[in-house]
Amino acid sequence: MGYSYDFFVAALTCPHCGVVSKENYTTKMQTSIRDEDTDGVYMGVGFPLVLNLPEMEELNYIPILPVVEGETIRIGHSWVCVSCMWARRWAVVEVAENVIQKIEDIDIKKELIKLNYVHFDIVDELHAVLGISYDDLMDSDISALSKKLYSTES
Ligand SMILES: [Zn+2]
Repeated sequence: MGYSYDFFVAALTCPHCGVVSKENYTTKMQTSIRDEDTDGVYMGVGFPLVLNLPEMEELNYIPILPVVEGETIRIGHSWVCVSCMWARRWAVVEVAENVIQKIEDIDIKKELIKLNYVHFDIVDELHAVLGISYDDLMDSDISALSKKLYSTES
């Protein structure tokens, strides 16, 4: 029997303590994005990753921006700093031509509306961190979502 998760792995710099993560499971970026092929592997930059776009919601990723064929697909995934265990961070996993091109830390508040998908973990942070509701997130009107996100800044 295979594992239930694969792991996105990257050297991510914690914006709180400055420690750079190891490229292993310690950032807790576990994912079942490969569905039935999931087998406990480390998926870093250069890893071949064929996304099953019609199944993304079932695989725990909420669609934000529509995917444009031939363009880079940007997926938001949560991570944790192993050194300070600071509040959940977010990284973007960029996939183009069925290969992971980039994994880096992002400011989720700024980047959310530029993602094609975001991991379902985002639901925990909608109110406290982002100041929006689940309905706002699921609303397919990106400009309305953008307005709500930025109107909460003061
Ligand atoms: Zn840290």
